[in-house]
Amino acid sequence: MNLLLVEDEQKIADFICEGLRAKNFSVTHCADGHKGYEAASSQAFDVIILDIMLPGRDGLDILASLRQIGVETPVILLTARNELGDRVQGLEMGADDYLAKPFYVEELNARIQALLRRHSGRAQHLLEVGSLQLDCINRSLHCQGQSVELTSREFSLLEYLMRSPNQVLTRGQLLEHVWGYDFDPCTNVVDVCIKRIRRKIASLEGAGKMVGAIESVRGTGYRLSAG
Ligand code: CA
Repeated sequence: MNLLLVEDEQKIADFICEGLRAKNFSVTHCADGHKGYEAASSQAFDVIILDIMLPGRDGLDILASLRQIGVETPVILLTARNELGDRVQGLEMGADDYLAKPFYVEELNARIQALLRRHSGRAQHLLEVGSLQLDCINRSLHCQGQSVELTSREFSLLEYLMRSPNQVLTRGQLLEHVWGYDFDPCTNVVDVCIKRIRRKIASLEGAGKMVGAIESVRGTGYRLSAG
C-alpha cells in the first residue's frame, strides 16, 4: 500500500512515517503544499494523509484541486484542535476522514484500514475514462456501442490504469499490482501487455483520440490520459 503524507512539521512527519512503515506501508513524504500537490496529482497512492496548515499551499486548497482534476484517492485531513471550521469544510470538499492532532499512529492506522475497506467496497462495476468503458463483471472493454474481450492480465492492467487516470504508474507498481511481483523480473511483460491493450483499443471503431490514451512515460511507466 502506497501512502502520501503531506506534513510540514518534521517531528510529526517522522513519527507518522516511522509508525506507518512499521506497519508495512510504503510512505512518501512531502513537507510543503506545492510538492504535496505535485506528488498527489501525478502519482498513484492508495490514501493521502493531508495536513491543513502547510507552507506553499494549504491542505484544503490541495484537496479542492485534486477533486477538480478527478483524483478520487481517499484523503485523511490532519487538523489542529482549533481548526473545526476547516475540518467541516474539508469533509464538504471531499475529504474522507479527519484526525485531530495529537493522535496515536494506531488511530491513524485504524482510519486508513477503514478507508481502504470502504473504498474497495464502493468500487464500481463500470469504469469510464473518456469514451472508454470497462465492464468489471464480464471483463470487456466498450466504446460507442462496440466491445472487445480482454484476457485477465489485460483486464487487470487496464483496470488499474483506469482507476488512476492521468497518473503515472511505474513499471514496478504495475508488476506488483497486476503480476504480483515485488521485484523486477527484467522482462518486458508490461510493455507487451500494454501493446496488446493499445491494439484492442484501436480495434474499436469510434475510439477516436482514446486510441493514444495510454501514454508511455519514458523510463518510468505508463499513464492513461483522460483526454
Ligand atoms: Ca502544519
